[in-house]
Amino acid sequence: MAQDHDHPHHDHHHSHDHDHSHSHSHSHDHDHSHDHPHGSELSPMELRVRALESILVEKGYVEPAALDTLIETYETKVGPHNGARVVARAWVDPAFKARLLQDGSAAMRELDVGGRGGEHMVVVENTPEEHNVVVCTLCSCYPWPVLGLPPVWYKSPPYRSRAVIDPRGVLAEFGTVLPPETRIRVWDSTAELRYMVLPMRPAGTDHLDEAALADLVTRDAMIGTGLPASPDRGARA
Ligand code: FE
Repeated sequence: MAQDHDHPHHDHHHSHDHDHSHSHSHSHDHDHSHDHPHGSELSPMELRVRALESILVEKGYVEPAALDTLIETYETKVGPHNGARVVARAWVDPAFKARLLQDGSAAMRELDVGGRGGEHMVVVENTPEEHNVVVCTLCSCYPWPVLGLPPVWYKSPPYRSRAVIDPRGVLAEFGTVLPPETRIRVWDSTAELRYMVLPMRPAGTDHLDEAALADLVTRDAMIGTGLPASPDRGARA
């Protein structure tokens, strides 16, 4: 498989950039877990981000407004709720499901889900016989338009290597224990191809409408490290 290192996506570059994106991403997640008011002391990572932003704006590489829009988009509009809508629709509409498995990106566009990083979405369906797990062994390619920003563990070297070597063991660590007869398939994402798992509809959900079904679909269920919430447990994990 040829890797396109000139691809505009930031996540398929050589190891130097790679390490940088890792350290950045860790603190990025951290920063967003706390709501620092303006004017408070900035963390070292916040200072680095501000400095980088200032330079990019000063040199004319980015428009501040465009940057704000991009960040807001990923914080509010793009996230696992998009993927959950896609999954719920597939559970209630067999024709949509068939289109989704045939051409993920095209079917998602019907629900206004798509955009950068979602041009070549491949949806893989879980069945009682086969369970799918998504990884990016090289770096951290991830289906942003359906799942938003990747969790820290997705980008971690242990997940990236062990998901391939010992998927059943990795799933068990996530609390996902599958019947021994269920085969596990691991899909390696690239900058060009991004995978999303279509989990099985949980039992006891016949009475639920599409919106209630979407609430059961967790991010991890669409990566394959988890399963959808069961209806008696209620809201998503
Ligand atoms: Fe990658």
